[in-house]
Amino acid sequence: MIKRYAESLLAYLFPRRCVACEAVLAPEEKALCFECFAQLDPTHYEQRPRNNPVYDKIRAFYPIDFAISAFYYDKDSVIQKAIHALKYEGIKEVGLFLGMHLGFLWKRNVSADLQQKPWHIVPLPLHPRRERERGYNQAFLLAVGFSKITQYPITQALKRVQYTKPQALKGQQERWENMKAVFSAAKTIPSHMILIDDVLTTGATLMAAIATLLSHSPCTIGIITLATPRSE
Ligand SMILES: [Zn+2]
Repeated sequence: MIKRYAESLLAYLFPRRCVACEAVLAPEEKALCFECFAQLDPTHYEQRPRNNPVYDKIRAFYPIDFAISAFYYDKDSVIQKAIHALKYEGIKEVGLFLGMHLGFLWKRNVSADLQQKPWHIVPLPLHPRRERERGYNQAFLLAVGFSKITQYPITQALKRVQYTKPQALKGQQERWENMKAVFSAAKTIPSHMILIDDVLTTGATLMAAIATLLSHSPCTIGIITLATPRSE
């Protein structure tokens, strides 16, 4: 009784708000209000996981099995605001909620063949120092949500060994140089891994991770990210 009173008092004093438009959320809304959720701009790449710009971009360098980015990452878009809330405002609920959404997209659209492979989910790790600063790894939260729906286990197959500055500050060449020795692989890694991360822009970070895993032992790798910029 007292607990419920305390909870409703807290909800009254600090109402949960939509991370995109700041409207007060109804109890059944999570992270995003229904209106903003409806404005998410889907790529539908989950319907063609081996025939889309993100797949092509990575496949030009590494033999991956599939690649999916769920939403277009436009400036001031709902997904851009949601990812900002997840990374810089400490709102972990966004990660779990959108991770689960990725799981539903996967279950509803991806072929049974692809779904039945013995996947392990590998969240792209942050450098331990960055994770301490943030208090959590946003990719891990996405992985937890995705795992909840798909039942694939989460495996920390990678470690981030190099602390790199935020990429926005760096030029393309410098960025590539920095990414070469970014990750190390765990002693044993699963045969099938889905790498999960928030945004794929150049793909350099994910490619560094893929290179690390492929040079460790033969394995099948797929990519899932929440968002990617619109390709021309
Ligand atoms: Zn909203």
